[in-house]
Amino acid sequence: MLYLIATPIGNLEDISIRALDTLRSVDLIAAEDTRHTAKLLMRFDIRKPLVSYHEHNKDTLGEKLIEKLKNGESIAYVTDAGTPGISDPGEDLVKLAIENGIEYTLIPGPCALIMGVVLSGFNTRSFVFEGFLPQDKKKRREVLKRISDEKRTLVFYEAPHNILSTLKELKEHVVDRKICLARELTKKFEELKWGSVDSLIGFYEENNPRGEFVIVIEGNREVEEVIEYEEVEIFNMVNEKIESGLKRNNAIKEVAKETGLSRNDVYAIYERKKGTTL
Ligand code: SAM
Repeated sequence: MLYLIATPIGNLEDISIRALDTLRSVDLIAAEDTRHTAKLLMRFDIRKPLVSYHEHNKDTLGEKLIEKLKNGESIAYVTDAGTPGISDPGEDLVKLAIENGIEYTLIPGPCALIMGVVLSGFNTRSFVFEGFLPQDKKKRREVLKRISDEKRTLVFYEAPHNILSTLKELKEHVVDRKICLARELTKKFEELKWGSVDSLIGFYEENNPRGEFVIVIEGNREVEEVIEYEEVEIFNMVNEKIESGLKRNNAIKEVAKETGLSRNDVYAIYERKKGTTL
């Protein structure tokens, strides 16, 4: 069995009892950085064989781990911080487990993106997690372009040394929108800083950005709300107007005006639905 285990993102007290019990029970622990994980294990007096599974050896080591799992060994996978699979090689391990029919689960726990989006106070009913901006210039441009019209809250990860340059890149795409920088979450100097992109650029030009950051951007509220209608709604709207005395073509004309659809589309929907409804 493969256990992906969420570990603290800064405060060691945030590890769950189930995570500790599982780390104590498995045959082997695979870790993104064994030195980093060794410190966590030492703190809780856990002694287990450790292997490293990271971005650069995931193809070869992944196969080896799968062999062990097929032979009945239990393996825990932990990353440097947070929930494995969120912007780290945990995602590939899950895919491998699925492909090979290996039983697997996640012991849930801290995750910087969830903490950042909740603390931002922005809309959490629907948000988009973009992870790190792509390095590839074309893909990066595509993501940045999407941001301009995104109505949902956006969440990004970024390394401290890139914060200022990323804010500068974001500038033209987030005009008049609030940004929340959630820094050093769960740590002693946890901090939330809200502002316009210009004010945050100004601040970090004066002050060196330190620590870990989640960037949360308020959705673009200026984008016109596009209401999507179900065909049955269109049919009912036309029908109601006919029942209240309008001629069919006038009813279709009015519904087209109200919904922003073309008259031809409303007519086609009405006729199609009439065929199935009557
Ligand atoms: N899997 C992790 C999780 O569940 O959050 C994220 C791994 S990703 C490689 C690391 C990024 O997460 C950092 O660059 C930073 O953007 C964010 N991060 C991790 N810990 C953080 C913290 N304590 N405060 C703010 N951001 C953090």
